[in-house]
Amino acid sequence: MDLQVLPLVEKKAPIADESKLVFGKQFTDRMFVMEYDADRGWHSARIAPYGPFILDPAALVFHYAQEIFEGLKAFRRQDGSIALFRPRDNFERFNRSARRMCMPEVNVDFMLRALKELIRLEADWVPRSEGTSLYIRPTMIATEPVLGVKPSERYLCYIILSPVGAYYKGGLNPVKIWISDEYARVSPGGTGEAKTGGNYAASLYASTQAASRGYDQVLWLDAVHRKYVEEVGSMNICFLYDGKVVTSPLKGTILDGITRRSILTLVSEEGIEIEERALSVDEILDGVESGRLSEAFGTGTAAVVSPVGQFTCGSRTVKLAGAGELTLKLYNRLTGIQYGKLPDPHGWVETI
Ligand SMILES: *Cc1c(COP(=O)(O)O)cnc(C)c1O
Repeated sequence: MDLQVLPLVEKKAPIADESKLVFGKQFTDRMFVMEYDADRGWHSARIAPYGPFILDPAALVFHYAQEIFEGLKAFRRQDGSIALFRPRDNFERFNRSARRMCMPEVNVDFMLRALKELIRLEADWVPRSEGTSLYIRPTMIATEPVLGVKPSERYLCYIILSPVGAYYKGGLNPVKIWISDEYARVSPGGTGEAKTGGNYAASLYASTQAASRGYDQVLWLDAVHRKYVEEVGSMNICFLYDGKVVTSPLKGTILDGITRRSILTLVSEEGIEIEERALSVDEILDGVESGRLSEAFGTGTAAVVSPVGQFTCGSRTVKLAGAGELTLKLYNRLTGIQYGKLPDPHGWVETI
């Protein structure tokens, strides 16, 4: 497929102060867009000035939430070059989400080529200071204007870019986690494994309640027993329990995180055993108290590794010390590979 580059009429002012970047609030000058019609397939791929879409109010995405997205980052390296982290994995997951949501798949090689071209044009927007990056948001929405519950015959796929500041300023600060034993995010057979907006819409009520009580994130339990750990907000979660790294298995209700996958590889390189099983709430609460559970951290593209400092479930609260030794080591190893400060033996990094 051809990729057209449309002229940019007006350039925004560049990033004024990289220390003031707020996640997801500022976007670059250009975006990638392509359209799909059932009879033509994907067409009209272009890099266009960033701007609003005109959509019919009946467009299916507004009514029945047929939507998927991805999240990945580009990193500025010390030699000035720009690198993507496992971008192919993201577009492959985009296609898995598409299949689950009855949406058309994209050509992974074409998407990678388009993304790299977009970032080359927007290279000025990749920040340079320590810990900053360019967040990349591929998205697909159903645009057919019809009020009928069915897969759309038309779609829009686009990629927008947002420069982001350092997630951690002065050390990995631990988060306070609210364990929800009342609300569930997804259920078995549902869409938990797809990166789709509806999962997030369903999570807002509990996370708003958690935030109003002073918690940073909600830890979701399985919808059947309300007992076993699934994941946290937009992160998977790992525990150092009895000296092993324990993390929930991929059984269709949690997202197959690329950070999770990468961290597990690094953990096994440390010679630490991995157990893919769902810890129970009691194992967490009792484990912290008895010392069997010594570290806990979330994994996801935005925060990379996010240490947990506190778990609360109902009236019970347990506290962990700050970021643990393993948590720090994994954070440093993974960001070291991403920013090109450490070797990349697994070929995770693709320079542009
Ligand atoms: C995106 C996401 C993650 C993390 O995935 P990464 O590929 O590591 O960024 C975890 N859980 C949910 C629900 C997500 O949407």
